[in-house]
Amino acid sequence: MKKRLFTPGPTPVPENVMLRMAAPIIHHRNPEFMEILTRVHADLKYLFQTTQPVVVLSCSGTGGMEAAVSSLFCSGDKVITINAGKFGERWGQLVRIFTGNCVEEKVEWGSAIQPERMAELLKENPDAKGVCLTHSETSTGTAADIQTLCSLIREQSDALILVDGITAVGAHEFRFDEWGADICITGSQKGLMMPPGLALVAISERAQDIINHKNGIPQYYFSLKKALKAHAGEDTPFTPAVSLVIGLDEALQMIKAEGMENIWTRHERLASACRQGCNALGMKLFSNSPSFAVTPVWLPEGVDWSAFNKALKNKNGITIAAGQDEYKGKIFRISHLGFYDELDMLTVIGGIERALKDINFNFQVGAGVTAVQKAFLEN
Ligand SMILES: *Cc1c(COP(=O)(O)O)cnc(C)c1O
Repeated sequence: MKKRLFTPGPTPVPENVMLRMAAPIIHHRNPEFMEILTRVHADLKYLFQTTQPVVVLSCSGTGGMEAAVSSLFCSGDKVITINAGKFGERWGQLVRIFTGNCVEEKVEWGSAIQPERMAELLKENPDAKGVCLTHSETSTGTAADIQTLCSLIREQSDALILVDGITAVGAHEFRFDEWGADICITGSQKGLMMPPGLALVAISERAQDIINHKNGIPQYYFSLKKALKAHAGEDTPFTPAVSLVIGLDEALQMIKAEGMENIWTRHERLASACRQGCNALGMKLFSNSPSFAVTPVWLPEGVDWSAFNKALKNKNGITIAAGQDEYKGKIFRISHLGFYDELDMLTVIGGIERALKDINFNFQVGAGVTAVQKAFLEN
C-alpha cells in the first residue's frame, strides 16, 4: 500500500532531497561542506525575508524556542506569552522555567489573539521584556495576524518579539525585517520538506546586541551567542547534522526556484480547497482564522475518531493528525504544509470519503472531491 502523510510535521520529503542526504557522509570542516553551509546561510535569509543571520541548530523546533528564551532573557525578566493552543502553551512553559516571570494570555482554541487585546496587555505590562507569539498555531490550525501584532508591539513598547513560525514559514507570508520581528523559528520537518532534526532561528540586530552583551540564564549547548559567533565564520559551534544540512541545501534550491510569493499563494489555494472539500462533506471547520498549513475539522456527529482513523490509515494508507488535549476525538487536522500540490488535496479528500463510507457515515460520495476540483478549476 502506498503511504501518504498529511500531518503538520513531519511532512513529506521530495525524492531529490532524500537522494542528496543518501550520499556518503563528508566532514563538516571539509571545504565542500563549508561551501554548502555558506549557501544554506544565504538562502535561509531569503526564506525568512531578512538580511540578518539565521542560525542552524541541530535539534527539533522546540530546541530553537528554548535557545531563544534562554539566550535573550535573564532570571526575573517579565515575558508575555500568548497561549491559543499547545504551542503557545509551550512558550509559557519555557518562560516559566527560564525567567520565572510569565504573563500568559489564554485565547480560546480556534481563535487568534486580537490586536486590541495585545495593546491592552502591553499597557498592563509596560515592563515586559518580550512577547512570544505563534504565527500558525498547529494544534488548532489557526493563524494570527503577525504583521499587525508586530507593528503594534513595536509602536507601544521596547519588548522583543519572538515568533514561533514553525508551521508558518513557507506557508504564510512572513517578512522578518519589514515586519520588525526579533526572533523567528522554524523546524526542518514542517514547511521545509525535510526530515526532522534542524531548527532555524532568525535573529534581529537588536536581539543580537542583547544576546552578545548579557550575562543571562545559564546555558551551554542551546546558546544563540555561540551559534551567532560561529555563523559569522560560516560555521556551527558543534558538529552539525551534516546530512540534514545537505538536504536543506537541496530543499532551499527548490524553494528559491518556486519563489516565496508563489509558495505562499500555493498554500493559500490548497488550504481554501481543503476547507471547501470538508464543507461539502457536511463537516464543520474548527478555526475562525484558518492557517494555510493545516486545516482543523470537527468530526461529524456519530463518527468515532478511532474507527475513522483506522479506515483512513489501514485501508487507504493516509495519515492525518488527531485533535490534541480536550479536542482529542473531537477534531482532526489535515496538513497541506510543504511538498503538496492540488492533486494531493483530491487524494486526501477522496481518502476521507472512502473512510467515511467504510464506517457507514451518511453522505453523498464524491461531494468533497467535486468541491475540491471546482475550487481549483474555477479559481
Ligand atoms: C511542530 C511545532 C513545534 C515544535 O516543534 P518540534 O520540532 O516538535 O520540537 C512548535 N511550534 C509549532 C507551531 C509547531 O508546529
